Amino acid sequence: MAFMRIFGARGTHPAPGAEFAGYGGETACLAFFADEAEEDGRLLDVGPLVVLDGGTGVISLGAALARTPKGRAPERRPEISIFLTHLHYDHISGLPFFAPIYQPKRRIKLYLAEDMVPYLRQYWQRPFFPLNIAEVPADLQLVGLAEAGEEQLLPELTVKYRRLPSPAHLDGVVMYRVTGPRGEVAYITDIELVAPEIMAEATAFAKGAEVLVCDATYMSGEEYEQHRGWGHNNIDMALTLAAEAGVRDLYLFHHEPTRRDAELELILALAKTRRERVFLASPAVQVYL
Ligand SMILES: [Zn+2]
Repeated sequence: MAFMRIFGARGTHPAPGAEFAGYGGETACLAFFADEAEEDGRLLDVGPLVVLDGGTGVISLGAALARTPKGRAPERRPEISIFLTHLHYDHISGLPFFAPIYQPKRRIKLYLAEDMVPYLRQYWQRPFFPLNIAEVPADLQLVGLAEAGEEQLLPELTVKYRRLPSPAHLDGVVMYRVTGPRGEVAYITDIELVAPEIMAEATAFAKGAEVLVCDATYMSGEEYEQHRGWGHNNIDMALTLAAEAGVRDLYLFHHEPTRRDAELELILALAKTRRERVFLASPAVQVYL
């Protein structure tokens, strides 16, 4: 694994419009690529590819994968593994529009908490969509995850996971930690780190990772108090987790959907007074691992 690129950093629902374009309006999606997947700044369809969440950002990922290296036959298309945190719309609504779903010989594994599998099938069927999930052209396999565990996808790539409870996300939300040859990314979103025991679990999970991508939906203070119990953090909670877990870089993620670029920049300036290596997640972000 050589790099992570963010394809969607917005939370709750997409945010179209010029005033959101800088940090992007697409909802949750991160992708992890192999070294050779980049050529002149563009992505090549070489894999395997690991994706975290299938918000509308996954549609841009599918479009970016349109370039196949010369001479590669369709049956040799690399496998794609998609891991879902939970089934709220901002984390799944791009999946039916992910271009590789319509490639007949593409193998795609979709990982989600085991008890959520029947609900995903319900979401992805007529009359909500023209095709039932079982009818898509790709070789799509649903894989149920236990409460915690590890998937060794390649000798050099591991995805660890653990489900935690979160307010307003009553079925729980899965945290992920992707380990590459030179670094680790912890992805913790939609888990409101308000209870000390939940903060402690998240801290242990993210401990020592180079990069933490963390829900920081609300401003601290009044805005957070108006949304306490909605299942999302304020900026201070994300900063606290980053400090306690000792991560190198914090990416503020799951941007509030009405927050304009200029407002996000003010929030970043505020966060920079607390730590140096804090950034805004956006589709421009690429992190080498
Ligand atoms: Zn969300």
